[in-house]
Amino acid sequence: AAKRDALLPGTGRGTSEAGGGGVSATPASLAAPPLHHSPEEANGPPPRNGEELQFADPETIDLAGFDALVVSPGVPLNRHPIAAKARAAGVPIIGDIELIAQARASLPAHKVVGVTGTNGKSTTVSLIHHILQTAGVSSRLGGNIGLPILEQEPLPEGGVYVLELSSYQIDLTQSLDCDVGVLLNITPDHLDRYDGFEAYAASKARLFAMQSPKRLAIVDYTAEAELDVLDEAEDPIIQFIADVVTGETADWPALRGPHNLLNAKAAIAATRHLGVPDAVIDAALASFTGLPHRMERVGTIGGVAFVNDSKATNPESTAPALAAFPGIHWILGGQAKSDDLDACAPAFDHVVKAYTIGASGPSFAAILAPHMPVEQSVTLAAAVASAAANAKPGETVLLSPACASFDQFRDFEDRGNQFRALVEALA
Ligand code: ADP
Repeated sequence: AAKRDALLPGTGRGTSEAGGGGVSATPASLAAPPLHHSPEEANGPPPRNGEELQFADPETIDLAGFDALVVSPGVPLNRHPIAAKARAAGVPIIGDIELIAQARASLPAHKVVGVTGTNGKSTTVSLIHHILQTAGVSSRLGGNIGLPILEQEPLPEGGVYVLELSSYQIDLTQSLDCDVGVLLNITPDHLDRYDGFEAYAASKARLFAMQSPKRLAIVDYTAEAELDVLDEAEDPIIQFIADVVTGETADWPALRGPHNLLNAKAAIAATRHLGVPDAVIDAALASFTGLPHRMERVGTIGGVAFVNDSKATNPESTAPALAAFPGIHWILGGQAKSDDLDACAPAFDHVVKAYTIGASGPSFAAILAPHMPVEQSVTLAAAVASAAANAKPGETVLLSPACASFDQFRDFEDRGNQFRALVEALA
């Protein structure tokens, strides 16, 4: 399912591109009683199990007596009126992951792996899930990816929940004691929803603060050194990602590039800790097929490779894609999250020509013009047509926008699918 669906009330998922979101009150939200649409009834007593679900105006609702407020991760807690109201009323603000955390004691014995970080979360959780499945372990993949866990079949005894956790989801979680917590990296993103970088980092660090002693914390040296993210963790077992010993990385076709080596090492450490034998891990790394829209090769025409990296919605996540290929015709632009492209600068010499699209097209063209030839293509269709006409055999046409997609597309998946369709139409 598309991550954009996450913005609908009740799906419980966030999105790494941010947006609006839904609010519901517990505990009625777990049942599906008949609906009342009358606004006059908005301020009645809080709904209880088996009672009716009510609609209310978040500006005027009286939250007295509510056990909790369950919100979608898309709701900006720093500026939505319902969040201020809940805080004033002393009502905890939680998300679907906290509902799962609170229900764990009543579930068959299981483990939880929680993965956060600015970039690489989806790749890493998908890889952990794939390794566990290869090992014959029951695994449920959820959180900020795929189907909400609450919509999935419960796990049998001995299973593992593999949760992708955005910082928004961690903000809505108070008691998730992960057996393995992973923090891949922290770079500036989503700062519109936090009071600065430190607050964003502190949000991610809470993953470890929620762990009980002797749980495994897997972190990158840089995140740990710069931010003391483990300061609040109580006696964790610490594994630095860079120290993880791997097998032969050349055998992993879907995990190219230094960033994917980091993701793979994190997945290896997590699954080793859960008892998966190295031989099984090695086999699973080799059979992993990767994720769509992340450096996904969608075609080769006349010796020119077409690569869909639509998921790269900020300059930091575009940087590894630029580093991964020589001779790039780079399609970028959209709804910018950053005014500069500094993170991409080390690989500018890999770019033959840039093609800008979307809202940030003019400003990005101005930034890039001193460094490379630039065409302001405006639309993705025009960019693909120009890039395909200009690219020589051996070169790569790369869609890695460094921007969110919402100015021209439904979401990053729509953008990537349109790119694929344009490439297929060329062939
Ligand atoms: P997330 O779920 O955190 O958004 P993804 O696994 O979907 O991360 O990857 C998003 C993009 O980020 C990819 O297209 C890739 O270019 C980049 N990326 C992946 N892993 C890393 C990493 N460990 N460090 C930096 N960038 C990464």
